Order: sequence, then C-alpha cells, then structure tokens
Amino acid sequence: MTYVILDLEWNSAYSKKQNRYINEIFEFGAVKVDERMQLLDTFSVYIRPTVGKQINPFVKKLTSVSFETLKEAEDDFFSAMKKFSSFLGDSVLMTWSNSDLLALLDNQAYFTGGSHLPFLKKYCNLQSYCEHRLGVGSASRQLGLSTCAELMSISVDNMELHRASDDAYLSYLCLKKIFKKSLLDEFIEDAECEEFYHKLTFKSKNITDLKSPLVDRSQMFFDCPECGVRCIQKTKWNVKSRSFKAYFMCPECKKEFTGQVSVKQKYEGIVFTKKLREKVQNPEDNNAEVTSDTEAKP
Ligand SMILES: [Zn+2]
Repeated sequence: MTYVILDLEWNSAYSKKQNRYINEIFEFGAVKVDERMQLLDTFSVYIRPTVGKQINPFVKKLTSVSFETLKEAEDDFFSAMKKFSSFLGDSVLMTWSNSDLLALLDNQAYFTGGSHLPFLKKYCNLQSYCEHRLGVGSASRQLGLSTCAELMSISVDNMELHRASDDAYLSYLCLKKIFKKSLLDEFIEDAECEEFYHKLTFKSKNITDLKSPLVDRSQMFFDCPECGVRCIQKTKWNVKSRSFKAYFMCPECKKEFTGQVSVKQKYEGIVFTKKLREKVQNPEDNNAEVTSDTEAKP
C-alpha cells in the first residue's frame, strides 16, 4: 500500500458566473510514501487561475506566490487534476484536516459540475490520526500542522510553510514519527460511497430553538458541583451565543449558578455540551468558573 499526502493552496475568488466566492486552487503539492514511510515520489503543480483576477493580499503574504507567476502556469484545473489522478493511482489519499478535500470538491463542482472526486478510493484525515496519536485536539480546538511539528520537535527552519509542497512534506515528517500501520488503518475511510461525501459535506449546526424535537429537555439539568444535589432552575432558558442559558440554585448550599447547554447537530448525531459556572457576584470577577464540562450523547 502507498500513501499520498496532498496539500493545496487556494485563493478566494469571486465568480460572476455562479454569483459566489470560490476557493480557487492554485497549487498542488504532494508526496508519495510506502508502508515503511520511505519517500517514493513528489508532486508539484501550479494552476493558472481562471476565476480570480488577482491574489488576495493575505494569501500572497502567506504563500509568497504572485499572480504573475500563476498566469504563466502550464496547467489549468483540468490538466492538474489529470496529472494528480495518475500520481495518486491506488494510493490512500491523505490531507491535513478535510478542508483541502472540501476545497478540491468545490473546485471539481465549479469546473466540471461533478459532485465526486472520481479518482478517490481511500481517504485518511491525517490531522485526526495525529490528534489521536498525540492525545491532543478536540472539536473546538484542532491541531495545526506547525503545532504538531513543534510537539514532535521537527524543525521547520528550512521550510517555506504555507507552500503546498513543503506543507505536504512536513505532514509526511509528522506521520513518519508516529506511523503505526494497524492504528492508521482505523482512520482510512472508504471514499467510493455516497456516505463518504454526505459525511464530508455535512454542516454541523447549533440548535437554538428550544421547541425543536432534537432538543432533549430531560438532559437540561445540573447537579451542584459542591454537594451533588440536583439544582433548581430559577429562570427560563434564554438563547445566548448559540446556546441555552438559565440560572440555577442548589437547594442545599444555596449557591447560585449559570447553566449553559449547547445542542449541536453533527453528522454523528446530537451532541449536548453542558457547562455550569458559579454565578458571578462581583461583576469584575469573571474567573469564578468552578465546574464541570460534560458532553453527552443521548
Ligand atoms: Zn450545593
């Protein structure tokens, strides 16, 4: 089995034709490695922009690629995809988080009208694997590639980060350090089914309507962190910063709390996150956070 680690750079460009912004890909960088983590081949292609008329200054600063360079590029999206497809072959495709894959899918949709990546057979989100192996990262705080390299004491001194080829190579160095085939296998997904695309494009959202049948009211309670007694709800639920908030009081120790419940609809199902904070008496004292964060899946 071989693995291809792909990194893309893109530029946000406005399409008049489709009346929307598209993350137009302008660079592919990839490395191919074998099961012993030996480097077999590299891939690097610039793509001539056809939607964007300039490079967003932020992207230019980040990638140090100029529009003039790109205008001279030999490949357009179609020929780049063709070349990449033959480079990939039967390898497992890997990217750092699924945002590169989403950008690729969006470009594919824009240029070809297709809703799938025909060359894709197996996929692995390398970020998820590294997070799992290092025991870091969460849904709200994802592990960045340069942070991951830092955690593993991989030097990035001679690299141009945010350039596709170097980012792909750095991802490879990270993988190499913690590669274990049997563990990685569990992160490899079958990409030749509808389910894969459904999951990939699923947009998580917070439910802020208390009347929604997805909100299980029976889970919206709190126990006092001091004495473990079920708290009494003192106010109605209010929607605040995309979650529900209410005041609670412990009938035993009389402590007052702010209870916050967020209900998120994810691909995997509904996820409840509950937070209880001791009610702030002194308005300047914002650090009175005492307690429990719990996540529950019904
Ligand atoms: Zn109490």
